[in-house]
Amino acid sequence: MEKIVEYTKGELTIVWRPGLCQHAGVCVKMLPLVYNPKERPWVKPDNATVEELIAQISNCPSGALSYRIDEK
Ligand code: SF4
Repeated sequence: MEKIVEYTKGELTIVWRPGLCQHAGVCVKMLPLVYNPKERPWVKPDNATVEELIAQISNCPSGALSYRIDEK
């Protein structure tokens, strides 16, 4: 079964599919305070705004990163 990891920041949920990740490092270059593969968890969504996170996720070349907004 495909592994899916989720990271939440308020209403925003970042969905990461490691099986799709090309390790191109675009996320790390764009938001180094959020994405650090050397740390656990490697995604720290509290270190950027929701707008910054969504803009970055749109630039993930493989589709490994996606997001959803959970309505309250
Ligand atoms: S930008 Fe996407 S494909 Fe590249 S390392 Fe990050 S999650 Fe993986």
